[in-house]
Amino acid sequence: MFKTIAELSQELQSKKISSLELTQFYLKRIQELDKDLNCFITVTEEAALAAAKAADEKRAAGQAGRLTGIPIAQKDIFCTKGVKTTCASQMLHNFIAPYDATVVKNLKQAGTVMLGKTNMDEFAMGSSNENSHFGPVKNPWDKERVPGGSSGGSAAAVAAFLAAGATGTDTGGSIRQPAALCGITGIKPTYGRVSRYGMIAFASSLDQGGPLARSAEDAALLLNAMSGFDERDSTSVDLPVPDYTATLNDSIKGLRIGLPKEYFAGLNSEIAQRLEAARHEYEKLGAQFKEISLPAMQLSIPAYYVIAPAECSSNLARYDGVRYGYRCPEPQNLEDLYKRTRSDGFGNEVKRRIMIGTYVLSAGYYDAYYLKAQKLRRLIRDDFVRAFKEVDVILSPTTPSPAFPFGEKTNDPISMYLSDIYTLAVNLAGLPGISIPAGFNNHLPIGMQLIGNYFEEARLLNVAHVYQTVTDWHTRKPTGI
Ligand code: GLN
Repeated sequence: MFKTIAELSQELQSKKISSLELTQFYLKRIQELDKDLNCFITVTEEAALAAAKAADEKRAAGQAGRLTGIPIAQKDIFCTKGVKTTCASQMLHNFIAPYDATVVKNLKQAGTVMLGKTNMDEFAMGSSNENSHFGPVKNPWDKERVPGGSSGGSAAAVAAFLAAGATGTDTGGSIRQPAALCGITGIKPTYGRVSRYGMIAFASSLDQGGPLARSAEDAALLLNAMSGFDERDSTSVDLPVPDYTATLNDSIKGLRIGLPKEYFAGLNSEIAQRLEAARHEYEKLGAQFKEISLPAMQLSIPAYYVIAPAECSSNLARYDGVRYGYRCPEPQNLEDLYKRTRSDGFGNEVKRRIMIGTYVLSAGYYDAYYLKAQKLRRLIRDDFVRAFKEVDVILSPTTPSPAFPFGEKTNDPISMYLSDIYTLAVNLAGLPGISIPAGFNNHLPIGMQLIGNYFEEARLLNVAHVYQTVTDWHTRKPTGI
């Protein structure tokens, strides 16, 4: 059962296993391993078993698709009807949504079985999962180290075989960075490809949902189900969704791959070596490399850490103790209710972002910070638009280092923010990006990132998949797991 979704799907189809057996297998592993790893905030055992039985019946009736009966985990940022959705915050620790997010609905319709809701950084703010109200998640490759964030629970769950695949969200790197640190594959689609309806907002102009999986093929299967126009999300784009699995094996002969020189200057030498090795693999497959320049990428950290807090301060204004979520005990008056609810309900990082965001949006500073950051964002996007006239995809590192030890960056927000230096620009530009395993530094996985032009997820998955047909990094398993 330690297999990819594509393999499990075949075994379900050939009746070698049933979805019930598979679901029981994962539930048992969660029971045994998750006390320690802490990937899940909520496990929905009963509902999962019922959904697995229903999936088996559907298959028996000849109505199964490739995802029917596949057990997956949902990041606890996606609203799930009747099941707690906490966003890893005290503010929502008891919140039960009255509806399913579109992503959840789509994956249910595709026949997947939800095992539970995964741990994350509070409101998706963080790069290490240390900002969760429910405690940190451990990296299955080294339990002294972080799994990355904010989708750390999803990434660790897939890496540790506690789920066949999982959902994540990526505002500045939160799918790609944890995928890299946990040795799995994660794709952040083009902004607008996957509906944000029912996905709790952090920074709305950057947030995008996507899958975390063991291989590009699995990511393609999940993305097929997750993508598509949704009239309930005004930023959802009404474009046809190609079958992402159909082009996985296309030849990449003649493909032009850009190497942005700014991403390689001063890069960690083990990561640089792994990327060099990947370059050779790609050349053997017929791709051509070209150095490109994305000079504005240096501006992405300052631009992001103005824009994301600005949007978060606005989005999180709704948590006021009045309508839903946490309410402080015995409020004396309205102001006391707001103050204590928000002081107790939010963790430190969330409060830091709300304060920064409120500041950069305030009348006297709006032009100097927020407007300026929007201009930088435009420059960053223009760089990519220019680059994609010369190349088809861009290859870069995903992270500046492999998984780091717990506590290493918690007292230094700037060094934590730097973990996303290679991923942020993609969100600011709204482009798709994928991280895939590219090797190891001792026992720690190293990821590499491929960036594509708008709505070229199929191409990214193809380029990732062909690499995975000639390498086996993505098939390695953490020892003792
Ligand atoms: N680590 C980044 C942040 O803290 C990105 C998080 C994300 O993509 N959700 O904001």
